[in-house]
Amino acid sequence: MKAIQSIRGMHDILPDAVHVWQDLEDRIRHLLEAYGYQEIRLPAVEFTELFARSIGDVTDIVEKEMYTFEDRNGDLLSLRPEGTAGCVRAGIEHGLLHNQVQRLWYKGPMFRHERPQKGRYRQFHQVGIEVFGIPGPDVDAELLAFTARLWKALGLRNLRLEINTLGTPASRARYRDRLIAYFESHRDSLDPEALRRLHENPLRLLDSKHPDTAAVARGAPTLLDDLDAESRTHFDTLLAQLDALGIAYTHNPRLVRGLDYYTHTVFEWITDELGAQGTVCAGGRYDGLVEQLGGRATPAIGLAMGLERLVALLIDQGVVKPPPGPDIYLVVPGGAGTGREALAFAEHLRNELPTLRLVLNCGGGSMKAQMKKADRTGARYAVILGPDEIAAGTVVLKPLRDSDAGQLTLAQQDLPALMRARLDRQP
Ligand code: ATP
Ligand code: MG
Repeated sequence: MKAIQSIRGMHDILPDAVHVWQDLEDRIRHLLEAYGYQEIRLPAVEFTELFARSIGDVTDIVEKEMYTFEDRNGDLLSLRPEGTAGCVRAGIEHGLLHNQVQRLWYKGPMFRHERPQKGRYRQFHQVGIEVFGIPGPDVDAELLAFTARLWKALGLRNLRLEINTLGTPASRARYRDRLIAYFESHRDSLDPEALRRLHENPLRLLDSKHPDTAAVARGAPTLLDDLDAESRTHFDTLLAQLDALGIAYTHNPRLVRGLDYYTHTVFEWITDELGAQGTVCAGGRYDGLVEQLGGRATPAIGLAMGLERLVALLIDQGVVKPPPGPDIYLVVPGGAGTGREALAFAEHLRNELPTLRLVLNCGGGSMKAQMKKADRTGARYAVILGPDEIAAGTVVLKPLRDSDAGQLTLAQQDLPALMRARLDRQP
């Protein structure tokens, strides 16, 4: 029979790679906790309307990337393409946002029907961070300081920060008109999709991937001239705070984010080492979104990092630590008669040493075969418990990694204390 395969763009993460993911996720979580963030867990499916209302109808995500389906009772639902909309929805629904500060984060799979390629998948994973109730720019700077610290903690190099401001909705509206006028004057060079979006969402044309439209976009006016005093103050203060923190950035006046809801600060952390899919983290301020989704006006800022891209970068830059092997592989030669004693002894060791990583040889096998298995697990020690040892109340402790330390035989009851001492010496 023909085997069934996984869906294009939706990948298994195999055990060999999972430790890199776990290490990454652990470090992110610890640092988030250190900055006072709380985790929130959100559903992977929401009403389609939530995404249409927040991300915007005339965006790549809503127009062509969402997995949308009708539920059995006729509701129109979508797999979440990103996490901000659901987080805001939950915040409003549970009264977490009004008149209070929330620092929230979440992680999980997101779904977008894109053309799969390196660094671009149909199911991918993000860690998202959202801060509600603070107008900034202090918290904007702190969020960027968090990310800079995270890259450092992970050992990642060569990530650069690009930053821009989209200003207040009023300055954005002025810019919008100017952009429409500019693109109108280059109508003949625009592709059909650009023409269709021109009046609805002209900012989208700025990061068009179509070569002709992109060429026109390169000459487009920037938003800088339309910024009002409030927008300028927000941006200048943020940049001064970044300077004071020693966080390097490039002001890229052409940086606009793919979603409709951004105001003021937008930013991306980019690497040149992953080809075209070089943005590992992106975000910005979205002061209007909570109100747009039915809550009371609440300032907010957030970001999302793409975990697949961070994992790829960690591996490419060689900063991945090998997974820890077991402390002990328990070798139990001598046939079925030792099974009961071996199980009991393994559980006894686990009682005595709660953090012990112990793999019990199940399924029998010769001494030689078991020792081979022990070695393959990367275990630090083999502990041998055969019929002779059982009869004498002893075990044999055989170091598998330290070539200078010799093998020794000791009483079974002395093993926990010895292991405690040796494991304490582990870095
Ligand atoms: P891009 O310009 O690469 O399409 P985007 O603007 O659509 O990115 P966001 O919606 O801002 O991306 O998502 C935040 C981060 O999530 C991205 O910077 C990236 O690291 C990651 N990401 C987005 N889409 C994908 C995908 N299809 N596969 C893998 N990672 C992704
Ligand atoms: Mg995209």
